[in-house]
Amino acid sequence: MITIALDILAAGLIFIMILFVLGEIFFYNYQESSVISRGTLIQQCPFCLVIFYCFRDTQIAVCPHCQSYLETGEGKYA
Ligand SMILES: [Zn+2]
Repeated sequence: MITIALDILAAGLIFIMILFVLGEIFFYNYQESSVISRGTLIQQCPFCLVIFYCFRDTQIAVCPHCQSYLETGEGKYA
């Protein structure tokens, strides 16, 4: 029979939860800084002026409001 002291079990669970929360905070900040540094994932439709978030890093984005195909990436207004 396995016997574990409750205080050790509670301390282990709290430690795991703290590690999970810190990992989430670090992952969230890393993701947000990478999005801001690239700056190409937030798009504005030139037809209906809706600002939307492009989840995929592709050359073509679809406006969620008017369903227009928009060219993203470098040189899009050249
Ligand atoms: Zn649009």
